[in-house]
Amino acid sequence: MTAPTPTLQITPSPHVLDDEQRQARMTGPGFGRVFTDHMVVIPYRDGAWQPGEVKAYGPLALDPATSALHYGQAIFEGFKAFAQPDGSVATFRPEENAARFNRSAARLAMPALPPERFMEAADALITLDRKWVPGAVGESLYLRPLMFASDAYLGVRPSLAYLFVLFASPAGAYFSQGVKPVTVWISEDFVRAAAGGTGEAKCAGNYAASLAAQAQAEQKGCDQVVWLDAARRDTVEEMGGMNLFFVYRDGDHVTLVTPELTGSLLPGVTRRSLLEMARDLGFAAEERKVTVRQWRDDLAAGRLTEVFACGTAAVITPVGKVKANGFELDIHGGENGPVALALRKALLDLQHGAAPDPRGWMHKVC
Ligand SMILES: *Cc1c(COP(=O)(O)O)cnc(C)c1O
Repeated sequence: MTAPTPTLQITPSPHVLDDEQRQARMTGPGFGRVFTDHMVVIPYRDGAWQPGEVKAYGPLALDPATSALHYGQAIFEGFKAFAQPDGSVATFRPEENAARFNRSAARLAMPALPPERFMEAADALITLDRKWVPGAVGESLYLRPLMFASDAYLGVRPSLAYLFVLFASPAGAYFSQGVKPVTVWISEDFVRAAAGGTGEAKCAGNYAASLAAQAQAEQKGCDQVVWLDAARRDTVEEMGGMNLFFVYRDGDHVTLVTPELTGSLLPGVTRRSLLEMARDLGFAAEERKVTVRQWRDDLAAGRLTEVFACGTAAVITPVGKVKANGFELDIHGGENGPVALALRKALLDLQHGAAPDPRGWMHKVC
């Protein structure tokens, strides 16, 4: 009997940083600038995913005709690994990212990566680079899986070859000065996604298309852009690369409202998780249509007491001010609101193993 071909071959880097060098690089790493010693590469060709390799982190050599560089057949994901109180390392709902990766792949006519290969790649990389997982609360190891069309061919058609790549980046507390509310600009000039488009997919092009709108928001003195629906431009979809929540208060009764998934919003794992966790904190939660008109009127009437955005990278970001053509309103006096902070703490406690995990969302890696 011949041994089965290993799906992932591990070739340790010959130039792993020593403890002192690594510590220096992990001090105040910010977000997305520092990378660990290794990466995973899995090629797809001849109609099948090939054995992959964990090897030294480094540049990829690309033919100038590489299809993804021209026609944008490229998707990515983002999730995090957290140091646990018992010294182990665990990732937060990585199966959700593996599943969404394949939904994105399907929309861009790319092959699905078996979820077990996705999980195997992540677990192997984190285990090999576990010294790169920061220990403090609010810090984590950010995992970035991606897939792109690697055919060297200028014809427009789904590529026949792809590369799956996974690498990791130690992430400090996203806000070094603690959580600070952002000011948002409601964009009527630009849209992120339209019905039937790629809004639900985590594809590179969605981000490219967002940059001019983000620049306009900054010109208006805002930190982030808020996207409206493409057809009527009256319904709220998302903020930058994060999902939005609206907090309604009626006496002691708190209801979280998040825009319903219409096909043009990115279905965030953080969004879904908060909808489920809301109940634990005694909040009601609803997914429904939210218009700019309601945002404005409900703020003025005092029913809408907080707005916040959520996503893997920044967890929860309160929105302290909303600006649009024709109006500008403070939210919760421009300060962090208690509901946003309570949800943020509940999620971080769960991720860092400081709270029970009744839904089995944490995946123990090593
Ligand atoms: C990734 C992303 C989100 C947040 O998704 P999470 O799974 O919570 O990280 C929201 N909106 C957009 C446009 C995104 O790309």
